[in-house]
Amino acid sequence: MDAKIIGEITKIVGEENALTSLEDRRCYSYDARTDGAVPDMVVFPSSADEVSKILILANRYLFSVIPRGQGTGLTGGSVPIRGGVVLVFTRMNRILEIDTKNLIAVVEPGVITYVFQEEIAKYGLCYPPDPASYKYSSIGGNVAECAGGPNSLKYGVTRDYVIGLEVVIPTGEILNVGVRTMKGVVGYDLTRLFVGSEGTLGVITKINLKLIPLPESKATTLALFKKVEDTAEAVSAIIASKIIPSTIEFMDKASIRCSEQANPMGIPEDIEGLLLIEVDGDSISIESQAEKIKAVLVQHNASDIKLTRDPKEADKLWQARRVVSQATYNLNPVKIAEDVVVPRSNIPNLIRFLERLQKKYGIPILSFGHAGDGNFHVSIMIKETPEDRKKAEEAVREIFSETIKLGGTLSGEHGIGTSKAAYLGMELSPEVINTMKKIKNLFDPNNIVNPGKIFPV
Ligand SMILES: Cc1cc2nc3c(=O)[nH]c(=O)nc-3n(C[C@H](O)[C@H](O)[C@H](O)COP(=O)(O)OP(=O)(O)OC[C@H]3O[C@@H](n4cnc5c(N)ncnc54)[C@H](O)[C@@H]3O)c2cc1C
Repeated sequence: MDAKIIGEITKIVGEENALTSLEDRRCYSYDARTDGAVPDMVVFPSSADEVSKILILANRYLFSVIPRGQGTGLTGGSVPIRGGVVLVFTRMNRILEIDTKNLIAVVEPGVITYVFQEEIAKYGLCYPPDPASYKYSSIGGNVAECAGGPNSLKYGVTRDYVIGLEVVIPTGEILNVGVRTMKGVVGYDLTRLFVGSEGTLGVITKINLKLIPLPESKATTLALFKKVEDTAEAVSAIIASKIIPSTIEFMDKASIRCSEQANPMGIPEDIEGLLLIEVDGDSISIESQAEKIKAVLVQHNASDIKLTRDPKEADKLWQARRVVSQATYNLNPVKIAEDVVVPRSNIPNLIRFLERLQKKYGIPILSFGHAGDGNFHVSIMIKETPEDRKKAEEAVREIFSETIKLGGTLSGEHGIGTSKAAYLGMELSPEVINTMKKIKNLFDPNNIVNPGKIFPV
């Protein structure tokens, strides 16, 4: 990028908010999964107006602009494919308003999810979307990916809490879409279009969020199973019994062993499946729900069941699940992580399929995740060798193919980014992809904002 353009952008954000050294720029060339190109420049805007000016320049000089929250994404969404300017939102991190009368908050995109949740809890309020990365991820990144988490089973995902947005579209216009009310059907629902658009349709600069009252109490159950099939069947049975827990998290044997190595909880070697189940609400109803769930677990041969309503004890029960993502690296240095979703009645079929796949390829394939939603984080752990890479690529294709066969979808929460773009056609028809490309082209005729994401290049 030539020095004149860098100079013009620097003038917009101020010298102290622009990085141009190679060392600094290199730090913005990867996310939690993907290595990409080094950007030409990294800037930290402080307002929609600054973002708009940068996008107007981008259209004039035809450089790419890549929005970035905290870089915890798992599909390369915030990673440049060929230089350009990375916009980082760490300076736009204010909670602008908490409206306790209408249960609404207005935030800037750089607010850390956990910081926001802690702040509104002081008012007895709750913002349920809770990706496992919530202590580090930004709300802007959550909105762009439509993040979900353990709570999604009962409370839904980010999309269900975003009621309005301020977005700078790629041509530089600042749009205010959506509402500050609980209802609103005036015109097309552009808010929903931007949620989950992975920063390809515009840059989010303000977010109106719906809040709910903080649940009064919780009960947490940890159940261990000697057969993974029983574990999977128990998930389907809980859902079929018409109890909706706030959370049902699953871990298979390989995940449990990994987690035990990193953080021993004394889970016996012969355990093949673990479920962590939470119900929340008023104390009387959670008591009866927890008891019903216990009965289903017993019916499905759970060999050990621990139930607590004490938050500190619950925190201990969560340990195995909490450490597992990082612990997988004890097996092998490279992780290929997918987050497929299947209808909940097909969970046992998916688990059986993954077991067979692990045997077929002879590489560790672990699965854990939000079983209550049918959403599994399948982690293929490999050595950095061409042979392992090839096996992993074939395994991924088989996993996606089986997921579609089971009536599922390729990604529940991590998005497509660059890492899954090649597989888009496995799920979407050419007509659907073409319609999506037309929408992208309408907002971004010069393909300025986050090029190379979602659609295969
Ligand atoms: C250990 C771990 C666990 C995780 N667990 C979960 C989980 O349980 N559930 C889940 O959903 N995800 C999970 N993730 C993935 C990731 O944390 C989420 O996708 C999160 O929403 C990304 O937020 P971020 O601020 O890091 O965004 P980034 O990674 O910086 O960006 C993500 C995408 O958002 C776009 N973007 C960021 N800010 C803006 C903006 N202001 N305007 C427009 N576009 C923008 C970027 O261009 C990119 O496409 C996990 C990641 C890790 C590392």
